[in-house]
Amino acid sequence: MSILCVGSVALDSVETPFGAAERVVGGSAVYFAAAATFFNPVQVVGVVGDDYPMADLDFLASRGADLSGVERARGESFFWAGRYHYDLNTRDTLETRLGVFADFEPKIPDGFRDARFVFLGNIDPMLQHDVLDQVRSPQVVACDTMNFWIDGNRDALLALLARVDILMVNDEEVRQLAGEANLLRAARWVQERGPEVVIVKKGEHGAILFAKDWLFYAPGYPLEEVFDPTGAGDSFAGGFMGHLARAGSMRPTDLRRAMVYGSALGSYACERFSIDRFRDLSDRAVHGRVEEFRRITAFETQVSVEEHV
Ligand code: AMP
Repeated sequence: MSILCVGSVALDSVETPFGAAERVVGGSAVYFAAAATFFNPVQVVGVVGDDYPMADLDFLASRGADLSGVERARGESFFWAGRYHYDLNTRDTLETRLGVFADFEPKIPDGFRDARFVFLGNIDPMLQHDVLDQVRSPQVVACDTMNFWIDGNRDALLALLARVDILMVNDEEVRQLAGEANLLRAARWVQERGPEVVIVKKGEHGAILFAKDWLFYAPGYPLEEVFDPTGAGDSFAGGFMGHLARAGSMRPTDLRRAMVYGSALGSYACERFSIDRFRDLSDRAVHGRVEEFRRITAFETQVSVEEHV
């Protein structure tokens, strides 16, 4: 089942303790598609300026991303610059320039309007509303956002929650949104406003899924070398939604499995700059990593008789 994804298609300049990358391809929609196409075709909607190296995204198209909904407008592409701290879990945004995103009016191509799975990547919540207005009858709508929009367009974001099934945010963002330090209570606060499921991402410490009366925790994959965490959250979302769309359901077993696929794909984003790690990543490697998650989290609930003696 195809996934419709709307989000930023950006140029990023990133500094980490290990090096720097200048104006490389990124953005929420790009990372999402790089991860989700391991499971399912993705229809991407966004906008780029005339400075965007679209050829850098050719490999996504060859893997099942339909980029025909990415408009090219006159002007500068969305640009984001960030610097990571020593622990790589925290970063400072140095610059955000909306460029052609400032005048973007998403037009969902007719062939994309029947999408059953929709991912509203991190963009202005007003645009996220516009997208939903154009989709006919989605089965699952997931949405990401960030502090920039929680501060900048809170009313539109709160109205959007009523139209969303799954909200994916990081721990700092859910606290800011709910005005509540306790994660469980913050998640409940969000659920009361619409989303049945709230996923709180905690960087290298994994992610927690809060459903109505159960929760599930997926650890972060223990990487020996974290190179650049940019896009890990969007790649998580891609792995998560990719699996759900492939399964065609929101059953608890699929949600739990999707959390592990999300965590696995998010970890790959951290291994190189930009979406480079996804270029030569194989299905086999992904499945191997998912298996490792099983090994590092499985345990026996009862001590066996042999262990006693
Ligand atoms: P993540 O590390 O998963 O939070 O995603 C980082 C990506 O989000 C980068 O590729 C940026 O281009 C993009 N990004 C950063 N700030 C914004 C924003 N305000 N709106 C949309 N996309 C953004």
